[in-house]
Amino acid sequence: MEDQATYAPHIRKEFLPAFRPFLEAGELREVIDTLESDWISTGPKTHAFEEQFKNYVGAQFAVAVSSCTAALHLSLAASGIGPGDEVITSPLTFAATANVVIHQGAKPIFADIDKETNNVAPESVEKNLTERTKAIIPVHYAGHPCEMEEIERIAKEHNLLIIEDAAHALAASYKNRTIGTLGDATCFSFYATKNITTGEGGMLTTNDEQLAETTRMLSLHGINKDAWKRYSSGGSWYYEVLYPGYKYNMTDIQAAIGMHQLKKLPQMQKRREEIAQSYNDAFRNTDQIITPTSRPYVRHAWHLYAIQVNVDMLKADRNTVIDALKAKNIGTSVHFIPVHLHPYYRSQYGYKRGDFPNAEHFFDREISLPLYPRMTDDDVEDVITAVKHVIDDYKS
Ligand SMILES: *Cc1c(COP(=O)(O)O)cnc(C)c1O
Repeated sequence: MEDQATYAPHIRKEFLPAFRPFLEAGELREVIDTLESDWISTGPKTHAFEEQFKNYVGAQFAVAVSSCTAALHLSLAASGIGPGDEVITSPLTFAATANVVIHQGAKPIFADIDKETNNVAPESVEKNLTERTKAIIPVHYAGHPCEMEEIERIAKEHNLLIIEDAAHALAASYKNRTIGTLGDATCFSFYATKNITTGEGGMLTTNDEQLAETTRMLSLHGINKDAWKRYSSGGSWYYEVLYPGYKYNMTDIQAAIGMHQLKKLPQMQKRREEIAQSYNDAFRNTDQIITPTSRPYVRHAWHLYAIQVNVDMLKADRNTVIDALKAKNIGTSVHFIPVHLHPYYRSQYGYKRGDFPNAEHFFDREISLPLYPRMTDDDVEDVITAVKHVIDDYKS
């Protein structure tokens, strides 16, 4: 049939991806300028990006690295966390958050999430403390800050470090404190899907000068400071290795992209907030959908718009809803498979289903809807229409 009207009008012609980066002429020109400058690895642009980033966040020090995973790993390494130590984090995160604890020879301990914010519950952190606990890695899930006052109180009482996984939380704030200025170290991600991207990349912010220096040293082979300058006219060929460090430095090609992404961040966040608001308004009265919480004292970074489908009111499970949305050309994703359910964590530590019921309950229902600045109003409407149709189709 050629008649358009016979086709369901709510099926998009083209697939809408769950994520898309927002790169324009500014980023492109800066990358070309970098390539033409001959300085393509860590250099002046990386340091300019660090300056701009730390000023944006309001932190005293910023160290640019190759990923958020690298920033998390370096935070632990620079803090001397190692064998015999335990680090508490959320099971509702990307596996990197826990993997890096294992890289240091320490043990990741999970604490269940709060059912409303989906962030690690402070009372669950407290229940999991032992004399071996050395640090907490709060994960600001979807961009909603954790209950940091509670976490700070626990850390202070038990002399623990706070290393924040802020992969989702650039531009977020908690009680008027910008994420990036709270913990001993805060780790940001510039992976392709994140609120700003450099392709791959990350940043560590801290107000602790010693931690910043150690992190910087460890991020480039453990060479003493300003090693990168040795190829400039003011540099010298001489260097010393103070520790067998890592190769986690950022390149000027990445920083060239990051500088322009950071400049656009306020505008991009405004668009994220608008889209989240449209989704909130559209789904508020749909009983089959639980919309995300945003507490009045936080600024949500809206990295993800994570809904839960109320499977008890549907003749479908989460996966069926995802497939039905895909059939309507709407891409989605799931964040995250709780880390304790991955085969390595099950076999190595004996974790199993039932260990973290809140995280598992959420995982079984969660769908991340498309949310990024390049979405048009029509794209947003298409998502809303498709979700409502799918819910109607499977209503029980
Ligand atoms: C993306 C992500 C990471 C890892 O970031 P990379 O920059 O890819 O290393 C860590 N934690 C969370 C919660 C993430 O979403």
